[in-house]
Amino acid sequence: MSTAIRYHYTALPFTQVTIDDSFWSPRIETNRAVTVGYDFQKSEETGRLTNFDKAAGHMAGAHEGIFFNDSDVFKIIEGAAYALHLHPDPALDHYLDELIERIAAAQEPDGYLYTARTIAERNGTPEILQADREGPSRWSHLLVSHELYNIGHLYEGAVAHYQATGKRRLLDVALKSANLVDEVFGPDKRRDVPGHQEIEMGLVKLYRVTGDERYLRLAKFFLDERGHYYHGRQPYGNHGDPAYTQDHLPVTEQDEALGHAVRAVYMYSGMADVAALTGEQAYIDALGRIWDNVVSKKLYLTGGIGARHHGEAFGSNYELPNATAYNETCAAIANVFWNQRMFQLHGDAKYIDVLERSLYNGFLPGIAFSGDRFFYVNPLEFDGTYKFNRDNSFVRMPWFNCSCCPTNVVRVFPSLGGYLYAQGNAPGNDQGNGAGGERLYVNLFMGSQTTVDVAGTAVQITQETNYPWDGAIKLTLQPATATNFTLCLRIPGWAQGQPVPSDLYHYIDAIPESATITVNGMAVALTVQQGYATISRTWQSGDVVELMLPMPVRRVECHPAVQDNVGKVALARGPLVYCAEGVDNGGHVLNATLLDTATLATELVPDLLHGVVVIRAQQPLGNLTFVPYYAWAQRGVGEMTVWLQRGTA
Ligand SMILES: [Zn+2]
Repeated sequence: MSTAIRYHYTALPFTQVTIDDSFWSPRIETNRAVTVGYDFQKSEETGRLTNFDKAAGHMAGAHEGIFFNDSDVFKIIEGAAYALHLHPDPALDHYLDELIERIAAAQEPDGYLYTARTIAERNGTPEILQADREGPSRWSHLLVSHELYNIGHLYEGAVAHYQATGKRRLLDVALKSANLVDEVFGPDKRRDVPGHQEIEMGLVKLYRVTGDERYLRLAKFFLDERGHYYHGRQPYGNHGDPAYTQDHLPVTEQDEALGHAVRAVYMYSGMADVAALTGEQAYIDALGRIWDNVVSKKLYLTGGIGARHHGEAFGSNYELPNATAYNETCAAIANVFWNQRMFQLHGDAKYIDVLERSLYNGFLPGIAFSGDRFFYVNPLEFDGTYKFNRDNSFVRMPWFNCSCCPTNVVRVFPSLGGYLYAQGNAPGNDQGNGAGGERLYVNLFMGSQTTVDVAGTAVQITQETNYPWDGAIKLTLQPATATNFTLCLRIPGWAQGQPVPSDLYHYIDAIPESATITVNGMAVALTVQQGYATISRTWQSGDVVELMLPMPVRRVECHPAVQDNVGKVALARGPLVYCAEGVDNGGHVLNATLLDTATLATELVPDLLHGVVVIRAQQPLGNLTFVPYYAWAQRGVGEMTVWLQRGTA
């Protein structure tokens, strides 16, 4: 495997980080012990797995379910592979080997893999393939067929399985597929774009694992093809709107997040990958404009994105309704992917601020503590009756007809270790050969351990914390020999008076406390550059760094252009956004008012919602209790709101 292909700021892979954390470890374990097997079982029940057997000719019958269901299986394999790496499991290992054989058998001899078409042709019923779904012939209707979307997820799953197990079987299936795509598509070959972006990220992973530049070029080709109708392509497909698939302009000319949110943000992620690896300035510029647009005009306080139910799409600027917010769980996951890549491009903590917000408040509500119930849609307000979730429901569902979200969450938990630490060089010191040139970044706060090579020395780092419940973070460094490098500790925007890196939200009240750092008990001056406190020194084994992030309850106000939030206030503490639920507040919260004069107290309640810090507001109007938004809707059906009327009297 190639290790030479690095980003300028490279995250340590999850395989190098062990998480041992009271907040996240139970969720990672539930994902491994429940969700992985549950998702495979659901896939078996719904024909997702037997579609591969039918395509292979090992079973009779028509394709079952949606034409992009193959992708769900590839995503579960990706998550299962990560889980397998963290926790050896011979039964799961064996199950994956057998499943991969079923998938390999479904691949046509030239590398084509798309069960919906292969089954129809094998059954002699190609006429059932519809132009507005599968497409009548190979690659004929890419904007709707999801042929390239499916195999993009194959590539990600294959790389994960290879990295987790060292086995090449699925990787070889993926490479055979990618080689076919490379034979068919290119500047002098077939020119078209996938209707649902995903293959771009998958191809970059194939490039990074093989070093074969064809895959990187192909990823860039699919990105550069967007928005060029002069190839004779018409704006057909879903909703008849080219912006739905971000095909309205060349990617380098885009400056506003438009259309289907998951498509869009998978595309931005692919662009950031390509930009980080090639330095493509036009991509970097476009991504900067689009990111500013999202963070200043289209981001929910929860880190959710994609405001509209219609088209699962971004709304207009400042269109952020609460009760009808769509906020697909997959879109929050995509936002985590994108911001990780933006960090890897720029080395700026503001991207991790957004990532953290989306991870704790956008992604996490999508899955119940039990690991087998899911929100596809994540509103910020609920009246107890509106069926906001998919498939006509308002509770977390066991599965969906379109189950992209339950199969996406399964790959996030076990790969979380890959978001904690990163390496890079000081700006202007690309060779990393100057004094203090090497930088070690601490991006997220979770109990964890890693060993990283810094300037040729193995450095073990142990992180201890009760985050997100308190802001004390202790790092113990154990370099094999004393060594000089710069430790960069992220000082979150929320700890510097800014909930998001824009004017979309702001804290109503200033607080006097600020973050502090000690090294071996001695206070060090805090200088923050690009969101990081940097400490350059010769580190000795046993050095202890303690970071203290004050975590008072903060009142948040929204930009006045967001109509739904005018006159309203929300509560946040540290990285967490809070909500009021009926169950804690006498049944009703939608008409509640929170006075500026209310006293806000916190209390750790160990037996509530697997242990949460609740916020209690004491005021003459009647007291209110708030719980973290990620934990809502786990105690029956009832009213909920993140934003409350603000009482300034
Ligand atoms: Zn989804």
